[in-house]
Amino acid sequence: MRSTARLALVCLLPLAACDHSSGSEGPAQPSQAPEAAPTPALEVNAARLVGADHDQDNWLSHGRTYDEQRFSPLTSISTGNVGTLGLAWSLDLDTSRGQEATPLVADGVMYSTSAWSKVQAIDAATGKLLWQYDPKVPGETGVKACCDVVNRGVALWKGRVYVGTLDGRLVALDAKTGKEAWSVVTVDQTKKYTITGAPRIVKGKVLIGNGGAEFGVRGYVSAYDADDGKLAWRFYTVPGDPSQPVEAPILTKAAATWKGEYWKLGGGGTVWDSMAYDPELDLLYIGVGNGSPWNQRLRSPGGGDNLFLSSIVALKAETGEYVWHYQTTPGESWDYTATQHIVLADLTLDGQPRKVLMQAPKNGFFYVLDRTNGKLLSAQPFTTINWASGVDMKTGRPLQNPAAHFGDTHKPWIALPGPLGSHNWQPMSFSPQTHLVYLPVHDVAFAYGDPKTFTPDPLAFNSGIDPSIIAMPEDPKAMAGVLATVHGYLKAWDPVTQKEVWRVEQAGAWNGGVLSTAGGLVFEGNGAGTFNAYSADKGAPLWSFNAQTGIVAAPISYAVGGQQYIAVVVGSGGTFPLAFGEIARKGAIATNRSRVLAFRLGAMAQLPAPPPMPPPAKPPERFGDATKQLPIGKLLFESYCNVCHGDSAVGAGVLPDLRWSPMNVTPELWKSVVLDGKRAQNGMVTFAPVLTPEFAELIRMYVVARANDTYAATLSAMQAPPPPGDAAPSKP
Ligand code: CA
Repeated sequence: MRSTARLALVCLLPLAACDHSSGSEGPAQPSQAPEAAPTPALEVNAARLVGADHDQDNWLSHGRTYDEQRFSPLTSISTGNVGTLGLAWSLDLDTSRGQEATPLVADGVMYSTSAWSKVQAIDAATGKLLWQYDPKVPGETGVKACCDVVNRGVALWKGRVYVGTLDGRLVALDAKTGKEAWSVVTVDQTKKYTITGAPRIVKGKVLIGNGGAEFGVRGYVSAYDADDGKLAWRFYTVPGDPSQPVEAPILTKAAATWKGEYWKLGGGGTVWDSMAYDPELDLLYIGVGNGSPWNQRLRSPGGGDNLFLSSIVALKAETGEYVWHYQTTPGESWDYTATQHIVLADLTLDGQPRKVLMQAPKNGFFYVLDRTNGKLLSAQPFTTINWASGVDMKTGRPLQNPAAHFGDTHKPWIALPGPLGSHNWQPMSFSPQTHLVYLPVHDVAFAYGDPKTFTPDPLAFNSGIDPSIIAMPEDPKAMAGVLATVHGYLKAWDPVTQKEVWRVEQAGAWNGGVLSTAGGLVFEGNGAGTFNAYSADKGAPLWSFNAQTGIVAAPISYAVGGQQYIAVVVGSGGTFPLAFGEIARKGAIATNRSRVLAFRLGAMAQLPAPPPMPPPAKPPERFGDATKQLPIGKLLFESYCNVCHGDSAVGAGVLPDLRWSPMNVTPELWKSVVLDGKRAQNGMVTFAPVLTPEFAELIRMYVVARANDTYAATLSAMQAPPPPGDAAPSKP
C-alpha cells in the first residue's frame, strides 16, 4: 500500500467527474418537428424589455422584468379558483439530469432550456415542440461542472434566442428555426469554466458570466453585441496577475485587499447566476461568487477582504465600468457566494420611498441596499446561522465568529450554513401587492477543516478543505441525528421589518424557485415531487399536483388567447442530490423525470403513470481488509467520487447509485469505467491520471461494503408506502 503521506497528497487533487447516463435518457428528439407551424416573428426590443411589467401576457426575460421580481400581474387564476387548476399539457425532455430553467414566453411561444444546454421552442398553448437546438456539449465537459450539467434559461432579442452553453459558448439562434446565427467562445476552454446561467440583454448587448470557482478560475462578466457576437466589454471580479496590465482601475484597489500569490490559484469570484438592471439609473447589478480555493488561508494567506468575492457590484451597462459594490462576506472561506437572485423594488423605509436592491445570499443574511449607491439599509438573518452574529450597520460589515475561520484556527468548524448556503440559486419572488419576498430556505450544516497539505492545481477541484472530515456518519442512529437537523422551508419575508411573516416546512431541504402572482398566489415545487400553490398573505396550502419528480426550477405565468397558464420545468438535480448522499434523500423523491408542465383552470390532462422503481441489485460479497484498506477506500471516495455519486456512496436518484451499479461486480468492469474511460462521453472521464488500479479497487471495496451495509434497509424502505410521486405502479 502507498504510505499515508503519499495518499494524502493524491487526495488533495480531487477531480470530480459526473456520469450523465442515468439509464433513462430517451432517444434524441428531432431538431424540428416535421409539420411545425411557422412561429410568429419574435419582436423583443429595448422598449418592450423596459416596459415588460405591463406586457402581462408574456415573460420576456429571466426574472420576467429587469427588476427580476418574478411576479406575474395576471389575475385569472386566483385564491378563489386555484383548486380547479389542472394539467393543460406536458412535454417530456430528452435529458434526465437537473432541470433549472426558467422558460420565457413571447407571443404564444415558450423558449426553454434543459440539461446539457439544449434549447426548446414550444407552442405555449399546446405544448407542441416547435424545434429543439442541441449545442452538442462534449460529455467530458461534465467534469468541469461543480453542480450538475444544468442550464437556467435563455434571453430573447429581435428575432433571436440566446443561450450560454456548459462548455463556455454564447450562441444566438434564429427564433423561428432554432438555427445558429452566431456562436462565440466566451472562456478559456483549457480551464474549468462552465456556463449554467441565463444571459440577460440590455441595450442590445448580451450579458453572460460563468462558473468554475471550485476549479481555480478567475471570474468575470462579459457583454457581447447581440447582432454579431462582438465582445463589447468584460469586467473581472477579482484582480489578476500583477505582472500583466490591469484591466480596470478599480482592480488596483481590489488587489490591495488580497495577499500572497492569489492569481496563481485563480481567485474565483465567478458571476454564474444573478443579474438585474435599473433602466432609470442605467445600472447593471451582478452577484459575485466564492473564492477559489474556498479556504482563505490558502487563497490569500494573512487575510484581507478579497474584493469582489461574495459581493454585489453595480456596473455601467454600456461600458462595464465599476460604480459601487457591497461585500456580503469579506474574506469568505466557506463558498458563501453572493450570486443568489437579486430583486429590485421600491419600498417605503422609515417613511421614505427608497429604491432598493434585495438579496438573500448563501451566508444567511437578508440584505436591503440602496441601489443608487450601494449603502446598506438593513440586514438580518433569515434562518439559523453561526458564522456571524449580525451586521454592523455603521460599517456594513458582518460580526464574524473567529472560530469559523478554520484555516486560521486549524480546527474543524461545523458551520451553518455550509457550502449549500441558507439559500441557493433557486429564485425568490417579490410581490408588489403584499410587499413580501417569498424565499426558499434550507438548513444544512457542513464540517470544514484545514488540510495538512495543499497542492494548488488549477485543473482539479480545489476547495482547499480537509476531505477526511466531510463524510456523514455511516452508523444509522448517528445519521438519524444529523437528518433531524436538516430542514427546508418556503418563507414569506417582510423586507421592511426584516421579519418572517409565514413559513411552510418542506419534507426535505432542496426545493424549487418561487413565483408570486396578482391572483394572490405563490407557486413553488419541492423535492418531494409536488407542485403547490399557497395564499400569498398567509401561506395557506390551496392546491397541489403530483409531478412524479423533484422540482428545483422556478415557475412562470403567461397568457395565450386570454387563458392564463402556470408553467414549470420539473426534474431533480443540482449539487444537492448529486453530492449530499443520505441527507439529499430526506423527504425527496429520488428520481428524475424531466418535463415541462403547464397548467390552466379546468384542464384535465394526466401524466403517464410512472414505471415501477426496480429494487436494488443484490451486491457482491465484501472483500479486502476492513481495518486497514477500507478507511483508505472511503477517503479516496470522499476525495474523488462523492461530488457526483453522493456522500458515503449514497445516490439520490440523478446519477447512478454506485452501490447498485452493475459495474461494481468485478474489478475489470469497475476499471473499464473508472480508469479506461468507458463512459467518458457521458461525463465520467478516466481517473487514470490520479488513481492507480490499486486505488480504484480500494474505492470499489468501499462501495461494495456500503452496498452490503445498506442493502437490507434500502430494500425494506422500498416496501414501505411510496413517496407521493411514486404511487403504486400500473401499466403505462
Ligand atoms: Ca461555489
